Amino acid sequence: MIPTSTTRAGRPRRVAVLSVHTSPLEQPGTGDAGGMNVYVLQTALRIAQRGTEVEIFTRATSSAAPPVVQAAPGVLVRNVVAGPFEGLDKNELPAQLCAFTAGVLRAEARQEQGYYDLVHSHYWLSGQVGWLARDRWRVPLVHTAHTLARVKNAALAEGDPPEPKVREIGEQQVVDEADRLVANTPAEAEQLVRLYGAEGSRVDTIAPGVDLDRFRPGDRAASRARLGIAPDETVLTFVGRIQPLKAPDVLLRAAAELRARTPGHRLRVLVVGGPSGSGLGQPAALVGLAQSLGITDVVTFLPPQPPAELVHVYRASDVVAVPSHSESFGLVALEAQACGTPVVAADVGGLGVAVADGVTGLLVGSHRTADWADALARLTDAPVLRERLAAAAPGHAAGFSWDRTADALLETYARATMPVRSPAPVRPRSLRQLRRTPGAQPGAQQPG
Ligand code: UDP
Repeated sequence: MIPTSTTRAGRPRRVAVLSVHTSPLEQPGTGDAGGMNVYVLQTALRIAQRGTEVEIFTRATSSAAPPVVQAAPGVLVRNVVAGPFEGLDKNELPAQLCAFTAGVLRAEARQEQGYYDLVHSHYWLSGQVGWLARDRWRVPLVHTAHTLARVKNAALAEGDPPEPKVREIGEQQVVDEADRLVANTPAEAEQLVRLYGAEGSRVDTIAPGVDLDRFRPGDRAASRARLGIAPDETVLTFVGRIQPLKAPDVLLRAAAELRARTPGHRLRVLVVGGPSGSGLGQPAALVGLAQSLGITDVVTFLPPQPPAELVHVYRASDVVAVPSHSESFGLVALEAQACGTPVVAADVGGLGVAVADGVTGLLVGSHRTADWADALARLTDAPVLRERLAAAAPGHAAGFSWDRTADALLETYARATMPVRSPAPVRPRSLRQLRRTPGAQPGAQQPG
């Protein structure tokens, strides 16, 4: 059992949360800032409200960023200088992990001994740092992958480069090393076991949430007026980072087909979000696609919107489309439903959990234009069905709250302090596992 200084029922006093590649204080919906940023901030706020302090370590991406920012009572964001502030792609960050880890360890060394009771890493880059911090501080490591390279690589969009080998290897190491793993959905838990060899007893499935105070049904006409959308327009919306994996092109193609099928229909397509990647990850490429499809007059591009504005986008929409090729959960789908807007989503990853098929939205089993046009038309041509799904959507979303996520994470933290790991695998994969083998020393030869 790992000795910790946890208080009440295994609840840590203070947790170090690692989010190397993206800051929870960034505006999500562009670059590398997306659902993970929202997840890290929203859970930190609620964990702190429950009496556990949270300190989030992230890489400083601006010389203007102060070393420490208080995001809320009990929540600090520590901006660690590791490499140049700007111009580093996520794929270049493995080379900065040593510098980042040094920053994390030094921050801890300035505090009294036993300052952090637990490390929670998000995404594999942070897991690499958490692994060392865990060994150094002798506290448990909880890891959330958010996405998995092997799953992503099996569902790439056309022309999308695969996730690099270095990530697959690094991800495997972190899965091997973590004391507990958090999966967003039962399917992701199964993937951790089947594709990465994690013991099922080490994995907790915890659904992400939605800010139910922010995202709720409201005055649709007022939201439309705010966005300059006419009352009789049929609004189909994409919200998220513009990247091939998110497949906003699928919505544009389907919209073009819908328009060809029912030319009398006043269609409006909203695409909300910023660039994240190359090719169709550039809004300019999407503008080009809209031109070639002949629908530029009905497509409106909006830059990334803060939640206070996004709520009007969801309320103003008839349907929110989530056509992703791969999606570990899909917060946008939950947020739209919480606002009373049905979702048409690709039947991939966590979207089958986020959307209740036939009840609050529709799941589409392919990315073919005709299938998407059919699914969208089922809602836009049949107001009765659309209204039925819209009415059920907020109730479904209410089942997912950040409060529930935070409570479940605190249970995982408590469990991480208990000796629940199954016996070590026959073939040790890591120094830590070697150390667990009686009599073995790091670097010592295993008996043949
Ligand atoms: N988002 C935002 N403004 C935007 C676009 C997206 O705040 O203009 C947020 C959105 O509200 C959601 C997150 O970014 O919380 C995207 O999360 P999701 O799980 O849908 O996708 P991910 O980015 O994790 O792939």
